[in-house]
Amino acid sequence: MSLANGRPYLAIPGPSVIPDAVLRAMHRAAPNIYTGELHEMMPELVADLKYVAQTEQHCAIYIANGHGGWEAALANMLSPGDAVLIPATGRFGHTWSDMSAALGVENRIIDFGLRSPIDAERVREALVEDREHRIKAVLTVYVDTSTGIRNDLEALRRVLDETGHPALLVADCIACMGCDRFEMDAWGVDVAITGSQKGLMTPPGLAFVFYNDKADRVRENARCVTHYWDWRPRTDPVDFYRHFDGTAPTHHLFALRAALDMIREEGLEQVMRRHAILARALWAAFDGWGAEGPIEINMADPAYRSHAVTAIRIGGDNGDRLRAWCEQKAGVTLGIGLGMAPPGSPEAGGFFRVGHMGHINAHMTMGLLGVIQAGLKALDIPHGPGGLDAAASVCAEA
Ligand SMILES: *Cc1c(COP(=O)(O)O)cnc(C)c1O
Repeated sequence: MSLANGRPYLAIPGPSVIPDAVLRAMHRAAPNIYTGELHEMMPELVADLKYVAQTEQHCAIYIANGHGGWEAALANMLSPGDAVLIPATGRFGHTWSDMSAALGVENRIIDFGLRSPIDAERVREALVEDREHRIKAVLTVYVDTSTGIRNDLEALRRVLDETGHPALLVADCIACMGCDRFEMDAWGVDVAITGSQKGLMTPPGLAFVFYNDKADRVRENARCVTHYWDWRPRTDPVDFYRHFDGTAPTHHLFALRAALDMIREEGLEQVMRRHAILARALWAAFDGWGAEGPIEINMADPAYRSHAVTAIRIGGDNGDRLRAWCEQKAGVTLGIGLGMAPPGSPEAGGFFRVGHMGHINAHMTMGLLGVIQAGLKALDIPHGPGGLDAAASVCAEA
């Protein structure tokens, strides 16, 4: 018997749940793209994006997904023959490095595996070794969505400063902007990238690259930069038409406006506290279930976990079975495991991920956890008894 009819819940780590107000904002006639309302809304829209990134610097908007944001950032910083340092803590660091390699850039990857955050001391060693300063950027995935690991960006800033290395500190915040604390300027991040479809609760299709003046000076000599990816016209203070190098993503911008209104209204600090508490509820449930049986949160130390996405190890093919059960029987779609085991290997089905980013609240989180517990029971996956109770306690004490 399926109990899935009703409102479905997409609990994958992006795209995330789109609020009704955001959907409604798109349900309207197309605006004039040359003048009027769309132009007038841009300064405040950009200001609100900078508020979410906690920066006073520049924000370029692209019609692209996160991969487009990656390429945009790389193109504006690099020339063929440059080197980049990539401290990788999951699949996304490696995928990003494929992109820099394709630009003719030398990748220096430090692979921290799937269960450890970046060790800044190893980054320090790589920077010290680079006496000629061939490394132009340290490409960091702040939260790697495949492993759920959240890295310490301030520690990386410190080793860059202490070694006097001029490389730019670049942070992929696609998974978690608006969910996990991120302070671009205070933390000394030179370039930050995000997308519309995760913490920002807007359909996929917009990428944002925030960059400071130091990064823009590097842009001056970057030979990978192309007309379309160039961030300078996109931040032109007067000529709005150049912001998109063509037609503006009209309805995405209306959607984003509505989403940013929601963040403004709740307040960024409260948005982040909500994410933190709901993440703790989720972890409490997994810890409770994990007390007996195979369930385990991939990143053991909570200090290095994201408040936006959690990767779970559950062994065998239990991840695949549980995902199928939750979707077919209960209307909840969980995320697939990504990059945890070779695709097609016997281990590959033993993982899943939960996206808990953006438009989520206590009843969604408790409902999601209730469904997971029902799935564990239905599938005879061994688990401890106290998971839901522990999650309820976290919500109750909030
Ligand atoms: C989602 C995500 C990406 C890729 O974004 P797409 O929109 O799928 O291209 C890159 N990095 C991180 C950390 C992500 O979470």
